[in-house]
This record gives sequence, C-alpha cells and structure tokens, in this order.
Amino acid sequence: MFRKRFRIHTYGTDIPNPFSSFDDLESKYDFQPYICKNLRNSAYEKPTPIQMQAIPIMIHGRDIMAMAPTGSGKTLAYILPILHDLKGPEKMGYRALVISPTRELAHQIYREFKKMSVGKKFKVCMLTKATAATQAQSPHLREKFDILISTPLRLVHAIQEENVELKNVRHLILDEADKLLELGFLEQTDEIFAACSNTKIQKALFSATLPSSVESLASNFMKDPIRVVIGLKNAATETIKQRLVYVGQEEGKLIAVRQLIQEGFKPPVLIFVQSIERAKELFHELIYDSINVDVIHSERTKAQRDSIILNFRQGKIWVLIATELMARGMDFKGVNLVINYDFPQSVQSYIHRIGRTGRAGRTGDAVTYYTKDDAPYLKSIVNVMKESGCEIPDWMLQLKNPSKESKQQLRKKPIERKTINTRSTYDIKKMKHKKYVFIILL
Ligand code: AMP
Repeated sequence: MFRKRFRIHTYGTDIPNPFSSFDDLESKYDFQPYICKNLRNSAYEKPTPIQMQAIPIMIHGRDIMAMAPTGSGKTLAYILPILHDLKGPEKMGYRALVISPTRELAHQIYREFKKMSVGKKFKVCMLTKATAATQAQSPHLREKFDILISTPLRLVHAIQEENVELKNVRHLILDEADKLLELGFLEQTDEIFAACSNTKIQKALFSATLPSSVESLASNFMKDPIRVVIGLKNAATETIKQRLVYVGQEEGKLIAVRQLIQEGFKPPVLIFVQSIERAKELFHELIYDSINVDVIHSERTKAQRDSIILNFRQGKIWVLIATELMARGMDFKGVNLVINYDFPQSVQSYIHRIGRTGRAGRTGDAVTYYTKDDAPYLKSIVNVMKESGCEIPDWMLQLKNPSKESKQQLRKKPIERKTINTRSTYDIKKMKHKKYVFIILL
C-alpha cells in the first residue's frame, strides 16, 4: 500500500521495506546524529520516493538499479547510505567511488557530499588534473581520502598512471548510469570496474532513464540486484508542462525564439541545440537581442564553464544556450523554461534535457521545436508526453512510431540543418559600429 501511494515499483528478491520519515533514519537505522542534523539544516522535510526505497536497499548492502524522474533527489539517495556505512574517516584510501559523465555534475555531487558530511572530517576528492597530480606526487596523501568523485576518462588516466588505488572501494555508484554504459563510455567504465577489486563491493546505478538493453547489460555485472522504478519507466517529470511547436523550416525557430523574447519571458531559460557549432551560431544571433545570454559547450575553458554555471545559478545569465553537455544531472533549481531548439536525438535525451526544469517538486515549461525533417520522429516524444499526463491532440496520438532502425540512426547522427546565422557579415559589422557610436556619444 505504501509503495503504491508513492508509485514505488520494485523488482527482485528479499526487498527491504521503504521508510517514511527522516526521523526513521536515526531511530530505525541508527544513522549518526550529524547526518540528521545536516538534513534538517538543508530544510529537507521528508524523503522523496526514491530516497524512501533506495536508502534501505543500500543500507542492506544490496546492488541496486534505480530509475527515478529527473530532479527527484537521486543524489541524496546514495549519499546518505554511503556516509552511514563509512561511519567516519579512516585513512585507508577510497572506500566509495561515484562516477559521473560530466565534470559539472561531478562537481555538483561533490558539493552535496560536503554539505551532508558537515560535522565529520571525511575527505572527499573530486578528481581533476590538479588533484590527480598532487596525489601522484605524494602517494601517502591518497590514503587520507575516503570518497572519490570522478568522470570516467579522468579516472582511467589516473588508474593507468597508478595515481589512484581503488582496491578498498566498497560502494561504486554510476550516476546517469545509462550514459556511462553507452558505447562511448563503456570501455572506460569497464576499466574502472576492473580496478575496483574488492569482492564485497556494492554496485548502484542511478538514472532517470535506463533502456532495457542497458538493464540487461548491467545485470551481467551486478549481484542479485533490486530494481526500483519510481512512477513510470523512462517517463518525464509530471510537473513539467510540455509543448511541441511546429516551426516549418529552420528559420522558423529563430523567429519563434525572438517572439518569445519580445512577448516577455521569465528567466532563467535553457536552450538546447545539437552541436557546438550551432550553439555558437545561436549565441551570435541572440547576443544582439538585449538579453543576458551566454553559451556553454565543451570547447569553452573549464574556468569559463564554472563561471557560466555560477552566473546562471545566480540569475545573472537569463538565457543559456547549451549542448548535450548540460542535459544530464545538472540541478538548476529555478529554470522556468527549457527550449529544445533542435529536436533531441533520442527519447532519453529529451527526458534529461527537459528535466533541467520542474525539479524538486517545482513546476516548469518545456518547448520543443520541430521542422518537417523532425516530423518522422515526433511520435517518440508524443509517447513520453502521454505517459506524463500531458494533453495531446488526436492527430498526434495517431502518428506512426518511428522504426527501431531510424531511431538508431538518429541517435548516431543528428539531422543535417541549415546554419542558424541570418545576419550577413555586413549586418554584424553595422551593429558593432552602432555600439561604438553609442560609446563615443557617452
Ligand atoms: P537530484 O535529483 O539529486 O539532482 O535532486 C534534485 C533537487 O531536489 C536538488 O535540488 C536537491 O537539493 C533536492 N532534494 C533532494 N532531496 C530532497 C528532499 N528530500 N526534499 C526536498 N528536496 C530535495
């Protein structure tokens, strides 16, 4: 009954019961008071459904594959049981390892660990070029650390250079697990698994999306795992209002965005495009629209990326143009609107992109533009919208599902699109000239 109320679905054997209140952590599970104090200080009043079920499973030392909507508190669902199990700092090297697909998400996880471990002198390391170098120079330093957070490639380098020791790791978490088990990352993830040689290791996978193929791949390296699904599998968060907007040709998108800006919008807004090139192009268009706009992608320096994220969080950037880099895990609490300027290449990408809004129970809007070229894939998104309870016109419901092959093709290669630039070089020069005239007049 309890699980049903919170839409918690579980699959597996001997599944521990969920808990209902953070007070239970102290009274039932013997959590140390510092954790409960940190929870109270964070103003988290009650556990979210994924926390209710995943925490007891992890406390019981079981492997877990957890699927819960974007922004539903997955990070805390693994941080709390890890802190509980590690008890305190031990100076025996890393005992918990969290892998994240992007550096930005790793940083966010690091901050949450630090917040929840106030009062205990755990040493948490986020692996960067600098921290890896320090540990390479002073091997004795490595033993001082308890928890490691890293992106796969950085960690694989450190393993190959023998700069990290993972034999004592007993909690291995893959955050955004399906991404880490995709082809591009799989080899690195495999190498990390091989370096975690402790036979008593607990493995946990967390994501908002876990396609069945990934689930079956994962069951090969997990021990009698328990699967937890909150709500519907591979669905979007229900507090997000989703819309599909037909823009005809490519040019229609810019017109639609400009219209939105002119009509007045509530920042912050996140706009997703399919490539770095297009992100730059759109930025060069919107920079002249008198809005605080910036662009983030992997070609920007780390310092620039950090400062953009901070400024976006602080409301100094109103509109942030992003590539897929920002699609997963990033917790921007106040994002009001996500615009899919370019149609996403997969259902998973759609769910994660729009999941940057409507987090922690808040409401949010998501608009997806589609052109004639995107139309054959429309039904995949319509299906997600239907599952999340959105109102959909009949004609959309009657669309044909794209074939498996065409979906795979799109996943591999984005649709070729006309460049976004509408301004000629002459126009841009003219605008710059105007700016100078203005400065001179001042
Ligand atoms: P996550 O899905 O882990 O990125 O979390 C999404 C947002 O929910 C973050 O801003 C968390 O701080 C917040 N959050 C996590 N757990 C709770 C909770 N029990 N109650 C309220 N907010 C929470």
